[in-house]
Amino acid sequence: MGKITGFMEFERIEEGYKPVTERLKNYGEFVIGLTPEQSKTQAARCMDCGTPFCNNGCPVNNIIPDFNDLVYQGDWKNAIEVLHSTNNFPEFTGRICPAPCEAACVVNFNDDAVGIKSIEHAIIDRAWAEGWVTPRPAKVKTGKTVAIIGAGPAGLAAAQQLARAGHDVTLFEKNDRVGGLLRYGIPDFKMEKTHIDRRVQQLEAEGVKIRTSVLVGEWPKDSKVTNWAKETISAEQLKKDFDAVLLTGGSEQSRDLPVPGRDLDGIHFAMEFLPQQNKVNAGDKLKGQLRADGKNVIVIGGGDTGSDCVGTSTRHGAVSVTQFEVMPEPPEKENKAMIWPYWPMKLRTSSSHDESTEKGLLKREFAISTKEFMGEKGKVTGLKTVHVEFKDGKMVEVPGTEKEYKADMVLLAMGFTNPVATVLDAFGIDKDARGNAKASTDFTGGYATNVNKVFAAGDMRRGQSLVVWAIREGRQAARAVDEFLMGQSDLPR
Ligand SMILES: Cc1cc2nc3c(=O)[nH]c(=O)nc-3n(C[C@H](O)[C@H](O)[C@H](O)COP(=O)(O)OP(=O)(O)OC[C@H]3O[C@@H](n4cnc5c(N)ncnc54)[C@H](O)[C@@H]3O)c2cc1C
Ligand code: SF4
Repeated sequence: MGKITGFMEFERIEEGYKPVTERLKNYGEFVIGLTPEQSKTQAARCMDCGTPFCNNGCPVNNIIPDFNDLVYQGDWKNAIEVLHSTNNFPEFTGRICPAPCEAACVVNFNDDAVGIKSIEHAIIDRAWAEGWVTPRPAKVKTGKTVAIIGAGPAGLAAAQQLARAGHDVTLFEKNDRVGGLLRYGIPDFKMEKTHIDRRVQQLEAEGVKIRTSVLVGEWPKDSKVTNWAKETISAEQLKKDFDAVLLTGGSEQSRDLPVPGRDLDGIHFAMEFLPQQNKVNAGDKLKGQLRADGKNVIVIGGGDTGSDCVGTSTRHGAVSVTQFEVMPEPPEKENKAMIWPYWPMKLRTSSSHDESTEKGLLKREFAISTKEFMGEKGKVTGLKTVHVEFKDGKMVEVPGTEKEYKADMVLLAMGFTNPVATVLDAFGIDKDARGNAKASTDFTGGYATNVNKVFAAGDMRRGQSLVVWAIREGRQAARAVDEFLMGQSDLPR
């Protein structure tokens, strides 16, 4: 514990943001990280609890009190060693994790949590700047081969762990670039893609072979999820060519809203809209990019993806942005005595909400359901809604609350229902009740599917989730694959 009285002496400091007018001019990151001095005082707020709830609240079980102490002592080099021992990519989580560790932090019980995420961010950015993040190729090769399908955070974490264990890893990705939803879901203003590119270089130097634009299995012909693959490999071929296969293809089937008028022009899934902007930012030329300029935009869905649509539409130059959420508006502050150390349900206002509000564009509506899309000449012009409430556990309409909204563009951001089924079917994988790949997370035999030598992890196994959970599952699945191949494993669980 760095400073015994730190938690009583120092207030929590939030990371800074560039001014709205400046950040809306481009798609770059705008968070200003803590200085080394600020990081030290923030780390001093950690009480080094006998039972560190933060460590349990963090899905990768980051050893938080230890790196806090090291930052307080100024030993940044060992701080990154501790951080990397549980998390392959702290620069991803240090930027975009919702930080369940902070909700669980003991200081959060009656004060503001230790700024764990901002300290993580400071450690990894410093480590990259100092040149401490280097490839760690295996000293001994096993001669075993592993195919990983899907290069999102789960696939990337698994690839790194398995390559470091000495296996020959090939990562197959249907998109033209690596990163999964980190690359083509999460906007650049939340996380610039150079962070992924640096890790790709590290992975390649550690021996991982990366094959982009290659689809494994089949793709449904009627899918609205864009498939940019130029080449296809069959599931059978992979099972023949590799000693083990790990499926980390994510949960890409967007939830639809099949109400009258759904087929009108101007209604798109968030995942048609967001990836295009990321591609343009990367320098690609797109014909007919979906843009919100001069439009009244309605975003249906009140979560992270919806908020990313708000931020992107605001940058495009929308004239109004309205975000609908079907659930009632949560309280601004949680009742900590009831909820701590668990994740609280409370009103979440993102930086995208703040900037759109500051521009006078954003309206957030809660407890609202869309009944119909209206249009003229095949193009959406608005929608009809009704307010809803929950009675006896059922959602019912509130009579007399019907309303019409003007809309030139509607973005559906209501989450993802399941992985694309044809990919799992190509391997003959059993699915759970929600359509995800069925595999347990047991200590023995974890992440194994019903098909011999085929494993599954990340959103493809657990359903739509978070980057930090994907990293956890990728790491744990890597250990399961290593055990399967070698009879035992030294990889951490
Ligand atoms: C818009 C948006 C914003 C989000 N914001 C956040 C956030 O702020 N914080 C957070 O923690 N989480 C966020 N998430 C969730 C997070 O991105 C996901 O939970 C995480 O990326 C899942 O990782 P994954 O590796 O399991 O799958 P994915 O990231 O989905 O990667 C799967 C990859 O597999 C590839 N693939 C699929 N099938 C095949 C095939 N047959 N052949 C070859 N390749 C294939 C896909 O192209 C994809 O690249 C967000 C999600 C979205 C959509
Ligand atoms: S719970 Fe909070 S105060 Fe306790 S060890 Fe973790 S970060 Fe430090």
